Amino acid sequence: MSVQIPDPDIAAVADFAPRLLAWYDHAARILPWRIAPGSAATPDPYRIWLAEVMLQQTTVAAVAGYFARFTERWPSVADLAAADDADVMAAWAGLGYYARARNLLACARTVVADHGGVFPDSEAGLRALPGVGDYTAAAVAAIAFGRPAVVVDANIERVIARHRLIATPLPAAKRAIRAALAPLVPRDRPGDFAQALMDLGATICTPRSPACTRCPVVADCAAFAAGTAESLPVKPPKKAKPQRHGRAWWIESDARLWLVRRPNKGMLGGMRALPGGAWDEPPASDDGAVSVRHGFTHFDLTLTLVRRGVEDAAGEGEWWPISALDAAGLPTLYRKLVDKMRESDR
Ligand code: SF4
Repeated sequence: MSVQIPDPDIAAVADFAPRLLAWYDHAARILPWRIAPGSAATPDPYRIWLAEVMLQQTTVAAVAGYFARFTERWPSVADLAAADDADVMAAWAGLGYYARARNLLACARTVVADHGGVFPDSEAGLRALPGVGDYTAAAVAAIAFGRPAVVVDANIERVIARHRLIATPLPAAKRAIRAALAPLVPRDRPGDFAQALMDLGATICTPRSPACTRCPVVADCAAFAAGTAESLPVKPPKKAKPQRHGRAWWIESDARLWLVRRPNKGMLGGMRALPGGAWDEPPASDDGAVSVRHGFTHFDLTLTLVRRGVEDAAGEGEWWPISALDAAGLPTLYRKLVDKMRESDR
């Protein structure tokens, strides 16, 4: 039996948005930064921007606690702009991709200094802010300001690649996905439309075992008809990541640990950290040494902990009580190392 592939012509998906939005009206996820469909409340661009920056490369579950803490401590963009850099970096610790935290501050300060504390309400205006890329600009423009922007995150990419059976491997498929999505964006509810697609990708059109029988747009989903949903979008072959090695120093005195701040530029820039050398050393051979492996976007790092004497506590740094290390705002890499060291000391 031959498989009937629905016509990819736009006419065939003309009522895509109404079907999706009707589903969203009753199935929308309740998220702390979201205005529920049908609510008369006005979206707060600050909260939407903050959530979108936090959600890049991270899950909703991982972000929820950070979002609550940030908005409680810095309820407006003006509060965030006035915050101490070190406090923001420490509050961000554990979310990863620390350049985003530095850009977050730069962006908040630009909104206050150049825009009177009011976010620009167009995609182009938003894109001109520090650290705001195409995706964030489109998402904030659509969700906060009702602009008919074409919002494409990983969830949306997956839904559209499947619905329109776009089998070109990523990242080349991005253009086709965008082109397929653009004509579907409704002018009346572009923000809800983007969020509905995000929810569909997160809850039904999941990477593995999509629940197609519950999908509001299954009727003309080309990948469902072809039985190829799970294989889309086609990912590029994974490249082996370079392996790098480094050493961090455990310098202890009177139940306190010597901590430094990493240079603003570079990996984990501006974050509190253990001192140590550059991450380009030969692999450590010291058997039994405490070490952790951590994956960055472009390389894997094995960081080995070495005990050093107080004479190495040089330069700028601070003695931090070991019993209070949880409050130091160490990024995940160093937290893992410290936790391992404490375990090995038990
Ligand atoms: Fe995704 Fe299945 Fe819906 Fe197609 S029918 S969009 S594959 S959940």
